[in-house]
Amino acid sequence: MTHTEMLATMRMAVEKAAVATRAVHAAASIDGVAKDDRSPVTVADWASQAVVAIVLRGSPLAGIPLVGEEEAAALRSPDSADLRARVVGAVSRALGATSEAAVLEAIDDGRAEPAARFLTLDPVDGTKGFLRRQQYAISLALIEHGTVAAGVVGCPNLSADGSDHDRADPIGTFAFAVRGAGAYLSTPAGDTRMQIAEWSPQAAVRACESVESAHSKQDLSAELLADLGAAGTPARLDSQAKYVVVARGGADIYMRLPVKADYREKIWDHAAGALVASEAGARVCDVLGQPLDFGQGRELTRNRGVFAGHPAIVERLIRAYSARVR
Ligand code: AMP
Ligand code: MG
Repeated sequence: MTHTEMLATMRMAVEKAAVATRAVHAAASIDGVAKDDRSPVTVADWASQAVVAIVLRGSPLAGIPLVGEEEAAALRSPDSADLRARVVGAVSRALGATSEAAVLEAIDDGRAEPAARFLTLDPVDGTKGFLRRQQYAISLALIEHGTVAAGVVGCPNLSADGSDHDRADPIGTFAFAVRGAGAYLSTPAGDTRMQIAEWSPQAAVRACESVESAHSKQDLSAELLADLGAAGTPARLDSQAKYVVVARGGADIYMRLPVKADYREKIWDHAAGALVASEAGARVCDVLGQPLDFGQGRELTRNRGVFAGHPAIVERLIRAYSARVR
């Protein structure tokens, strides 16, 4: 099976998961409950992971280990009956009537460990953006021997016309890439190739970063841009939508600057997005210029932060970062 053939299943899984996350948004209220790390996890997170796992089970990719962000343990508890019913409802909207047992079992497919070849899934990346009804992403990547071989980033709320921020979108933006074969957007008119924007040292630097100041050091990003002679602060949006915006030329650089020295980025927060951006011509590395190493388990233990963007800007930012943070 070629990577392109595998990608077809991955794209379908993400598109169907988006039907489930949209169904949750369409409901009047969004329920959040606290997970151990206190990040909000919603009906959508579980429903999206269930949909992807069920699609994979019935596909040629069945049997490839799935390393997902979520697990069903909290959902199985007796006081989660209402939550469980909502998850099953959202999954059934995407896939047709599905039993509770099938949904719970599918979510736990995501408990596999990284292997020589595995899939990694963030069912709702940018949960806080999802709760604000802003940007979020469904991100699925195939990792082989520590390298991202294929990836899909579905951004159900990211509009195609460049108005990237703060609005629901009826179509959304679905990006995908196979290593060595370019990055593409699916559009109603067919797949279109993505390329990062041209940039010259005289031009402005259009940067983007996290909405959450706990995820990226926002005062430092403004200082680094000033070091480059660029005015202003980055646009802020949640999730791997940032990689997609860079890939399609809507921003020149995505900056993710470490806030806590001991935080390690999770593979599912970056794998698909990083491939999409690099296949569109971006340089993707950490704040010290090291390539992202997806061969270290569930976390990017050898990396700190991320720069993804025009290679000339990334080069300048690595130098500016090292000069300021020592
Ligand atoms: P973003 O929407 O780009 O801000 O990224 C959302 C992701 O940030 C979540 O999926 C979390 O896994 C991740 N995250 C949580 N805490 C941190 C942290 N301290 N530094 C960087 N990323 C974090
Ligand atoms: Mg995430």
